[in-house]
Amino acid sequence: MIKINENYKKLQASYLFSDIAKRVSSFQEANPDKDIIRLGIGDVTRALPEACVKAFHAAVDEMAADATFHGYGPEQGYDFLRQAIAEGDYQSRGCNIATDEVFVSDGAKCDSGNFQEIFADDVRVAIPDPVYPVYVDTNVMAGRTGAAENGRYTGLTYLDGTKANGFIPALPTEPVDLIYLCFPNNPTGATATKAQLKQWVDYAKQNKALILFDAAYEAFVQDPDLPRSIFEIEGAREVAVEFRSFSKNAGFTGTRCAYTVVPKDCTAYTEAGEPVSIHELWNRRHTTKFNSVSYPVQKAAAAVYTAEGQAQVAELVAYYMKNAKYIREQIENLGYDCIGGENSPYIWIDAKGDSWDFFDTLLNNAGVVCTPGAGFGKCGEGYIRISAFNSFENVQQAMERVKASL
Ligand SMILES: *Cc1c(COP(=O)(O)O)cnc(C)c1O
Repeated sequence: MIKINENYKKLQASYLFSDIAKRVSSFQEANPDKDIIRLGIGDVTRALPEACVKAFHAAVDEMAADATFHGYGPEQGYDFLRQAIAEGDYQSRGCNIATDEVFVSDGAKCDSGNFQEIFADDVRVAIPDPVYPVYVDTNVMAGRTGAAENGRYTGLTYLDGTKANGFIPALPTEPVDLIYLCFPNNPTGATATKAQLKQWVDYAKQNKALILFDAAYEAFVQDPDLPRSIFEIEGAREVAVEFRSFSKNAGFTGTRCAYTVVPKDCTAYTEAGEPVSIHELWNRRHTTKFNSVSYPVQKAAAAVYTAEGQAQVAELVAYYMKNAKYIREQIENLGYDCIGGENSPYIWIDAKGDSWDFFDTLLNNAGVVCTPGAGFGKCGEGYIRISAFNSFENVQQAMERVKASL
């Protein structure tokens, strides 16, 4: 008899996006003449940068001739891309990251979900709340938690983000081994300072722990004093792994390309306490289970690092950040407390009550779709997330309608 992984039964069904879809479609049925503006989903809306499209086309043409065709490439990614990443995103910013510490992949979702599998079943895991749900669910699947009770799994250490701490969680009061952090945060848009990240790096060093740092939104950081990488923090090479993606900065959500940086100084331990290189473990796992990203997509991603590509990505980011600033100003003018939108494309709004009630008000009175914060964890209850991923015209219209309806 084929038996299931029982841990999957612990997973709480996420009704968030299906619930949103249901409410939106019943509104549409009742109001067929009203158009809806979607500021809910965390997907980009603008086309790929021209430099990426050109490189993508050229690479497809190479695939069309025997002489220039590419079959399997290196599992870790082509050197042309790994080197462009190491130089463009790290060495140029003073971070000591080598080409062979970069692992190219088809998504930061998979990487941030898969990385836990190289560690023991009984490592103690700390995860922020609210946050991107992938970290919790993949640890549930792996059997590192008990059942869910009141919306939280037993056996996990939740790092609470609240208004009082500015949605930057404090260090755990119980010992943990694996720590997930996401800054700029999805969904709150909160961004940690260097001093705040330093506390986590120091904690990890003292406790022989590892930080998994999700920097999917680093390109949206505007303040030059804020870190864009955990590797800007002294000592992080020994205790941190970083996930990044071309999804949000270069619009690759449908094209698929990302990468994980695993420094060779990161160490984990055997049952007997002997040190093992995390880089070697991840390399073994990655090369066994993954055959890398298609050649044309890696060529398109590498074009992000050309002068033309850099200018075009900066323009895309600036476009969304103009939306974010506008949304935040308008919402604050209406007397609502919010964070985010300054160094991130998300604005996190105190709904002054139930998140779903606020969601319904915006939908029914303004025809605007947001995301209820409760979908990102218990601490998200009472908040909503508005995304800046839309056209400026739509954002303006949405805010006019919100103003008239609240
Ligand atoms: C969008 C997002 C990612 C990127 O995922 P991809 O699989 O690379 O598209 C990773 N982490 C967070 C927190 C995100 O919001």
